[in-house]
Amino acid sequence: MNEQTETEFTIDSALVETSPGTEEWKNDVRFSISKGTITRIEYGLPLDQTSKSIEGTAIPAMVNSHSHAFQRGFAGMSEYRTESQDSFWTWRELMYKFVSDLTPEDVYIIARQLYLEMVEAGYSWVGEFHYLHNNPSGSAYANATEMADSVLRAAEDAGIGITLLPVLYQRSGFQTNQINRGQRRFALSLDEYFDLVNNCQKNITGNPNASVGIAFHSLRAVSFEAIKETLQYRQNHLLNSSLHIHAAEQQLEVDDCIASTGKRPIQYLLNSFQIDESWCLIHATHMNPEEIEGLANSGAVAGICPTTEANLGDGFFPASRFLKHGGRISIGSDSHCSVNLREELRWLEYGQRLISGQRAVLGTPHLSTGRRLYSECAFSGGQAIGIKTGRLAVGYRADLLILSPDHPTISNVSKDRILDRFIFLNTGSPIQQRMLGGEWIEETELTEQLHCSRIAFNQLNQKFFEGS
Ligand SMILES: [Zn+2]
Repeated sequence: MNEQTETEFTIDSALVETSPGTEEWKNDVRFSISKGTITRIEYGLPLDQTSKSIEGTAIPAMVNSHSHAFQRGFAGMSEYRTESQDSFWTWRELMYKFVSDLTPEDVYIIARQLYLEMVEAGYSWVGEFHYLHNNPSGSAYANATEMADSVLRAAEDAGIGITLLPVLYQRSGFQTNQINRGQRRFALSLDEYFDLVNNCQKNITGNPNASVGIAFHSLRAVSFEAIKETLQYRQNHLLNSSLHIHAAEQQLEVDDCIASTGKRPIQYLLNSFQIDESWCLIHATHMNPEEIEGLANSGAVAGICPTTEANLGDGFFPASRFLKHGGRISIGSDSHCSVNLREELRWLEYGQRLISGQRAVLGTPHLSTGRRLYSECAFSGGQAIGIKTGRLAVGYRADLLILSPDHPTISNVSKDRILDRFIFLNTGSPIQQRMLGGEWIEETELTEQLHCSRIAFNQLNQKFFEGS
């Protein structure tokens, strides 16, 4: 993207920050943007003839805080029963089989397709939880960042921002230091991991649309000592970077954690480490009331992936209680059974309705459900990936979506109803334009890119799934 771009435009209405922490809908809004960042927001002005004028409503683009890009190649291909009781764990075996032969070029093709779909859906930035490091035999590629480079290149070509989160993965369970055969492409020693992070950091130098963070696959896959050493490495080399971990996705891993440590996973994390705003706990699904309160008070973000958590039978994140304690939440598409932010947000709320037998569970008397969910996940998504995005405010990246006032999904409704309909009316998308990092994404160019990407992606489908 062109860092030199300076632009201005005026739009009918926008959801903008009017004072720290407060967003309001304003009419006749003029945005000034320099080097990808919002430098001025004015509203209530007479129509400005000098800058570009847009009919529509501007909202922040959404952050996708959790992705395993390669899984897009396999999404929807495990919807059959393999055992008397299929589960996350049987799905994981199928995923291991799919991953066994993937080349760096395959990963690039899958990731580019996925990231273009994310841009089309309205995502601006992705947190890529990247654990596919090694070659098929389980040793490092000659260039250890080969796989990481594939996803970085795919993000750049698709025009989406990326926080690359190289993942430390060391063992197959709490009671062992070994990995199983299906995990050999994921495992690294601590030194290999630090080298990988360091080299990824070098490879993104000067790229305003990429950052690097730290990720632990899960408590079952990484020891206490390894987490401690990695946090020390971060302190010395990557201060303020994001920290992500799969926290408590499955009841079985909660049980294993208790058996091994005497504590539940989130209780263990809160007691053992300084969990703060830098952390994002993915799938904090299984929490007791003390853990909910503790995690909310820590300031960490809970990264929720509603469609994947449904697809894998994980359980419901206790969103209502967590938000009541002031917790921060973001969304992710994780296994990419859905690349649709509207569906993620809708199912985040629907899960709570199904549990409670109530409606508008995550709304408040002052904020409608759609408005609250959208604002919270966009803003805290930015916190989760360590980037100032997800809010239309001075100093934030100019990542925004323009919704068409004529689209039947949102036409003739006001203010928060726009976001309620955007999320809860499952009809066509009213997104008419996208600006990412201060640059307009041309609709025709996006369509053309998707067309080209699909050709390569379809050939991959043929390679992996013909006849299945
Ligand atoms: Zn995940």
